[in-house]
Amino acid sequence: MTETFDDIRASVRALCADFPAEYWRELDRERTYPTDFVRALTEAGFLGVLIPEEYGGSGLGVAAASAILEEIHASGGNGAACHAQMYVMGTVLRHGSEAQKTGALPKIATGELRLQAFGVTEPTSGTDTTRIRTAAVRDGDEYVVNGQKVWTSRAEHSDLMLLLARTTPRDKVEKRHDGMSVFLIDMRAALDKGMTIKPIRAMINHATTEVFFDDLRIPADTLIGDEGRGFRYILDGMNAERILIAHESIGDARWFIQKASDYARDRVVFGRPIGQNQGIQFPIARAYAATEAAALMAAKAAELFDAGEPCGPEANMAKMLAADASWQAADMCLQTHGGYGFAEEYDIERKFRETRLYQVAPISTNLILSYIAEHVLGLPRSY
Ligand SMILES: Cc1cc2nc3c(=O)[nH]c(=O)nc-3n(C[C@H](O)[C@H](O)[C@H](O)COP(=O)(O)OP(=O)(O)OC[C@H]3O[C@@H](n4cnc5c(N)ncnc54)[C@H](O)[C@@H]3O)c2cc1C
Repeated sequence: MTETFDDIRASVRALCADFPAEYWRELDRERTYPTDFVRALTEAGFLGVLIPEEYGGSGLGVAAASAILEEIHASGGNGAACHAQMYVMGTVLRHGSEAQKTGALPKIATGELRLQAFGVTEPTSGTDTTRIRTAAVRDGDEYVVNGQKVWTSRAEHSDLMLLLARTTPRDKVEKRHDGMSVFLIDMRAALDKGMTIKPIRAMINHATTEVFFDDLRIPADTLIGDEGRGFRYILDGMNAERILIAHESIGDARWFIQKASDYARDRVVFGRPIGQNQGIQFPIARAYAATEAAALMAAKAAELFDAGEPCGPEANMAKMLAADASWQAADMCLQTHGGYGFAEEYDIERKFRETRLYQVAPISTNLILSYIAEHVLGLPRSY
């Protein structure tokens, strides 16, 4: 049986109780960052859960981190404001030098440094990461970075950024995934010295931005691992990201199901609770079944990941099934509430917008289906 982390879940729920629906509603209205919430999570040690004890963290696994994010979402909040710290850190931990690890990880664990920005996506390359154009060119003991990232979330609320850039042009490498490198950039030093950040106003409150690099000079020792192997290093962390985000979706789904069930019991129309009608009951029950099934796959993926076993298929399936379950639950919850689902004060429309993201980011459903078709079922590569 998978460990359920009941103590961690209870502590997260207690912390989230201090940040009620009004808190998230107000932030969403103003499109502001949940600074107090992120500080509280950091001080409670929850954001350092995956950092090994020797670097000041709790040294727990992805299953524990998943429990934290799931509870945040099930409480009506949103962990996307700070989840990157959990999985981005893994690239530094697994591939960084000892100096990079001792320099960054203990400070990330205490909150002195925030590692919340992950710069991969670019406007022209889309999901085809091998076509990124941001380039880092070695010049003595520095690299000079030019290019642009898009949808770099939390860039304005992070001290460090993990940046993927081409160090060898795509047409000069044998394999298209080669020739990209990752850098751990000090954003405080880079700001206005070649790096500029422009917020993107989006459908959800996600603190997302465009980041421009114009002859930004970074020290060569910001390179993580070997030059040219950055894509592999980032891929390593993607299974963790998918498992964590699957649990955020499951948390959302649980929130929608609870909200819909409570309303369906209380709301009386035609002289009886609407939940007495099977037309209302069945979609709730169906969303519940889908959520529980996704939760099993997500738990399996986390267990494999924490055991150091390959878990690509499970992590991808968990992310897709959980995102589908949360979207199904969101639609059901809105429908159950009738017109009131659209009212801001019920929080459904906000969570509805927020959970829709997971059909697209960090990887879209189509790309997961392609992965399963090609890598699990052995069908021909389609792109
Ligand atoms: C709010 C938000 C926050 C984000 N945060 C970050 C972040 O912090 N860091 C970061 O690097 N990125 C971030 N992203 C980017 C996100 O990861 C990408 O948007 C996502 O990977 C999809 O890429 P794209 O938008 O370029 O879509 P495209 O690649 O242009 O794809 C568009 C559509 O076409 C489909 N498609 C493309 N190719 C195929 C194919 N071969 N077969 C079938 N369908 C295909 C896709 O599934 C998608 O539906 C964020 C995005 C959003 C919206």
